[in-house]
Amino acid sequence: MSLSLEPSNHPGRWWHLLPDGRMECVLCPRACKLQDGQRGFCFVRQRVGDQMVLTTYGRSSGFCIDPIEKKPLNHFYPGSSVLSFGTAGCNLGCRFCQNWDISKAREWDRLADAASPETIARAARELGCKSVAFTYNDPVIFAEYAIDVAKACHDQGIKTVAVTAGYISREARGEFYEHLDAANVDLKGFTEDFYHRLCLGELQPVLDTLIFLKRETAVWLEVTTLLIPGENDSDEELHRAADWFAANLGPEVPWHFTAFHPDYKLLDKPSTPAATLTRAREIAVSKGLHYVYTGNVHDLSGSSTYCPGCHRRLIERDWYVLGAWNLAGNRCHFCGQEIAGHFDSQPGEWGARRQPVRLADFQ
Ligand code: SF4
Repeated sequence: MSLSLEPSNHPGRWWHLLPDGRMECVLCPRACKLQDGQRGFCFVRQRVGDQMVLTTYGRSSGFCIDPIEKKPLNHFYPGSSVLSFGTAGCNLGCRFCQNWDISKAREWDRLADAASPETIARAARELGCKSVAFTYNDPVIFAEYAIDVAKACHDQGIKTVAVTAGYISREARGEFYEHLDAANVDLKGFTEDFYHRLCLGELQPVLDTLIFLKRETAVWLEVTTLLIPGENDSDEELHRAADWFAANLGPEVPWHFTAFHPDYKLLDKPSTPAATLTRAREIAVSKGLHYVYTGNVHDLSGSSTYCPGCHRRLIERDWYVLGAWNLAGNRCHFCGQEIAGHFDSQPGEWGARRQPVRLADFQ
């Protein structure tokens, strides 16, 4: 077992001093205003004198190789393996967080792995991973570290993926996403009330990030909505969300509806019935969206990819496991229709495995 690490004193960016002497962090829409010694809502950014410090730079809560489908990304090198890691803290406060032991970490004992950007990139290459994912907690709050890891990965020919809530400011998002190849962004609900009450945040900045990613970057984008019974799964809300999605992101951005399981502070809600995921998928498809998926369930029909031209099954999926493959490059094998996304000539063969990695073995 590794020993816990001291916090890093890496300089943080995206801040300025206010006339009243407080320091305002402008990395995310929360815009924390800090006195000397104070930490932001995310806990990992701290004012030390007249500097901002990212205390988790080079610190990780652990590494694992996952299937890319687990992020979830269904149109980004299907079947490939991705070296996944996170740090600690989060800039939202979701009552239903499924990774709360990491995102709400207030102790450094979770951050057992020292991890330089170069070591991470080298480990990914030696382990045969197609990409590295910033996941488990939101990479926005460790943006300086994520950017350096992404640069090191690109030097080694490794792709980079962010799994994020999209809660980032206009000031920071351009530079953050410039270094990423793909992102899965949570659209957690479609009302400000949901974001206020259950995430301690706001919906509009997330919508702004989604539009920015689609219209102003080359980042491959997929979206995930965790459906929570009685909170964000009404027909009315799903219709409004799907109308917005079709009008602003278009038909080619994949959308994943995933199942909630009682967790963290939201233990009084039941798990999401499979029929709810199917209903949400049907609503989204009825708006003309081409690639809509159910997730966290065995649902061959809802997890597979279909050709928007001839409607035949192109990629068969059962949870994270791929079956029949009917793509020729990035085109439908049957009718030649181009399929949005990034595809190798053959699917990867990682399967559903989850393999922990000790980064110390690659130092
Ligand atoms: S990144 Fe952290 S410190 Fe900065 S505004 Fe967001 S929550 Fe506050």
